[in-house]
Amino acid sequence: KGKRAFIAGVADDNGYGWAIAKSLAAAGAEILVGTWVPALNIFETSLRRGKFDESRVLPDGSLMEITKVYPLDAVFDNLDAVPEDIKTNKRYAGSSNWTVQEVAESVKQDFGSIDILVHSLANGPEVSKPLLETSRNGYLAALSASSYSYVSLLKHFLPLMKPGGSSISLTYIASERIIPGYGGGMSSAKAALESDTRVLAFEAGRKNKIRVNTISAGPLRSRAAKAIGFIDTMIEYSMANAPLQKELSADEVGNTAAFLASPLASAITGAVIYVDNGLNAMGVGI
Ligand code: NAD
Repeated sequence: KGKRAFIAGVADDNGYGWAIAKSLAAAGAEILVGTWVPALNIFETSLRRGKFDESRVLPDGSLMEITKVYPLDAVFDNLDAVPEDIKTNKRYAGSSNWTVQEVAESVKQDFGSIDILVHSLANGPEVSKPLLETSRNGYLAALSASSYSYVSLLKHFLPLMKPGGSSISLTYIASERIIPGYGGGMSSAKAALESDTRVLAFEAGRKNKIRVNTISAGPLRSRAAKAIGFIDTMIEYSMANAPLQKELSADEVGNTAAFLASPLASAITGAVIYVDNGLNAMGVGI
């Protein structure tokens, strides 16, 4: 019997979330996605009009089916937390039930349970500013969207997750090494996400037999990464300096997620798994 996955952070066919969805679908999972409210319309329209059909092709030639797309804003835990200006914002007022708690309730109503939870989202409004120039609000916004969003998602989806289930997030090595340009508190947010992966692995493991891991991915030309502004430099740097001198494909991260979600990884939890052509192991660029 196939597993069911909820993947938060899919809004086009360029990012890691999409690739993870495909790898899980290829392994037989049913796919549900959570799409950021402001990006929902264009994503659903593109999907309906067949704009993603080429990238929906799975290794067996069939097309990935997304059973349901849920609007989501992972910065808000429940309706009480949503400020008036967002409630009345045109893009948000057109959708409903997009807070984390409401999405989890909707998935429960629609499907009862899930086996796999994926967090593939991040946002740092001041990412292009050095940490020394980052405002308190910018820093806290990065942590809210990129780190606490995961705590909140797991907290609300845990009751829907079957024992033996698996939860995965995406992180970046700027958490532990200096990557100038990954600013605005985003490096701090990834450090929090990695530390939380360990603590959540303990809590969700003891309580619900759920595994919690994070994939430290190499550079990919996603929409989010292009917004940061130095992605081409990072890809070139990796090609020049990593043990494996090839461009990283999103599928390689997707396949690792499928492995981590499978019983093949039944003893792996609390781990940061590098999928970066080995770049993390280098001490100097050469
Ligand atoms: P992406 O643009 O495909 O994904 C980011 C998604 O987050 C987008 O779909 C966006 O709509 C969504 N999002 C932003 N704020 C949100 C919110 N408040 N609620 C719900 N959704 C929200 O880009 P990506 O690079 O594939 O990013 C996915 C994950 O991979 C992120 O955690 C990112 O930090 C991580 N990552 C990316 C790279 C890279 O080079 N691209 C490297 C390492 C890790």
